[in-house]
Amino acid sequence: MLLVFILSYLWRNSHVKPEKATEPYVKLYLHQKGEVMDLYLEDYIIGTVAAEMPASFALEALKAQAVCARTYAIKKIIDQHPYPRQADLSDDINCCQAFCDISTHNIGPDNLKRIKTAVKETRGEIMLYDSRPIDALYHSCCGGKTDNSWGGSVHLNYLKEVKCKYCTQSPHYYEKHHFPNSRLAALVGGKDKTLNIRILSTSPAGRANQISINGKKIWASDLRRKLNLPSQWLSFKVGPQQTEITTRGYGHGLGMCQYGANGMAKRGKSYEDILHHYYQDIQIYKLPY
Ligand SMILES: [Zn+2]
Repeated sequence: MLLVFILSYLWRNSHVKPEKATEPYVKLYLHQKGEVMDLYLEDYIIGTVAAEMPASFALEALKAQAVCARTYAIKKIIDQHPYPRQADLSDDINCCQAFCDISTHNIGPDNLKRIKTAVKETRGEIMLYDSRPIDALYHSCCGGKTDNSWGGSVHLNYLKEVKCKYCTQSPHYYEKHHFPNSRLAALVGGKDKTLNIRILSTSPAGRANQISINGKKIWASDLRRKLNLPSQWLSFKVGPQQTEITTRGYGHGLGMCQYGANGMAKRGKSYEDILHHYYQDIQIYKLPY
């Protein structure tokens, strides 16, 4: 029943061009220009894969990315996420996925060919859980394990902690960052050079949620943003003058780890293997167009 709804929504009249009536048509809001671009869904997926994953990644990783991007987009369309100018999708990564217009960006003929192949070989494929498109979250590098969905009111059964030994090639797999103590104190309005930092709460897999700096609370997401850290999987080593912050991974840690997908692909895993590793109990469904 839900699938019927998906199909009827995607093929609603305003988004179908008569000469190619079988492939859904989307309106993409280009947030920097403030314009809307009309394009076929599969062309949108090509631009999204080009923007969201290095084209040098293995083909099966690019295919996994294409299925993630398509699923993510279709869920946004069905949920009728409100984008400016009545668009279905946006290229603003704060509320949707990145998009690269391949007609104006030169990504190289070989790269473009690989991305087009990845999109074509997964044409129409999306991930379902309980007959619904999943929230296909993905991130650059998990740093060793992904996270359970947490926070908010909905627990997503398909987003569970999984070990990942495939993403060590990422430059952000494990990093150390150093900050003067005064800078960290200033984050909570303090001036002290002596610091006492504690992680007060974490996600189920151990990413920091709330932190205390000299008794004052700060959300780990704020600390990450203000210090430009790659993730919230953090540990602190406070010294007399400066503090060392160790981070693992890059991104929120939910769903597919992109460097992990590439690592799995290089070890001979298929895109289906990759998707089933990072998303639990999902089905891959091919939309009939
Ligand atoms: Zn990983």
